[in-house]
Amino acid sequence: MTSPVIELRDVGRAYDEGPPALQAASVTVRAGEAVAILGPSGSGKSTLLNLIAGLDRPDSGTVTVNGVRVDRLGEAGAARYRRESIGMVFQFFNLLDDLTVADNVMLPAQLAGMPRAAARRRAGDLLETLGIARHARAYPGRLSGGQRQRVAVARALMNRPPLLLADEPTGALDQAAGEDVARLLRDLNDEGQTVVVVTHDLRLAESCTSRTIELVDGRVVADVAAAR
Ligand code: ADP
Ligand code: MG
Repeated sequence: MTSPVIELRDVGRAYDEGPPALQAASVTVRAGEAVAILGPSGSGKSTLLNLIAGLDRPDSGTVTVNGVRVDRLGEAGAARYRRESIGMVFQFFNLLDDLTVADNVMLPAQLAGMPRAAARRRAGDLLETLGIARHARAYPGRLSGGQRQRVAVARALMNRPPLLLADEPTGALDQAAGEDVARLLRDLNDEGQTVVVVTHDLRLAESCTSRTIELVDGRVVADVAAAR
């Protein structure tokens, strides 16, 4: 077995109001896995993903990614960790509308200090691989949802993160575009990329992952490996 990429142990997270968003959640993900986090709205899926991404901190328990105690990072450490270790894709793409597609994709590399020419080359390669090279100079507002999500995936992969996280990546897409993004995630995983996808769409989970973890009321209630 490969070593764990993600290890959450007994993680709890509560907000000021309402029941805990996560309770005693323990999850281990190994290199090369594709895992879906399923569960109804409000069950703690995004909270879990944000803890893995270092965007939030648990109230109890530990979050370890590639041997780094993410729950102990300060602000600067967490920013650096996210830049180097995490690629993240969101439901509404989170692209910058006043930058071109190419500049959106290059941004993470530039923040990491990669020279502009090298960043431009890598962005070009990614856009080519993802089938959107002809839109490199376009602004995101001109693209379809499915194309925008491809741009977001390219941006997420820019710094070659060991871990790709996606929070409802097909939630704003029509069925065909959603299936297209699911296929893309599966292809990336086939090439070795570790992927964690949050969704409430069981079909998406089945089409692009080989394991499903189910949350209900902030608790892990199922963790099932499936033949794909
Ligand atoms: P999911 O992604 O599965 O829909 P979330 O992780 O977003 O669920 O939310 C889990 C619970 O935590 C919900 O009850 C939600 O209302 C609550 N919650 C999430 N974010 C916040 C926040 N920033 N402030 C207060 N409560 C929150
Ligand atoms: Mg959510």
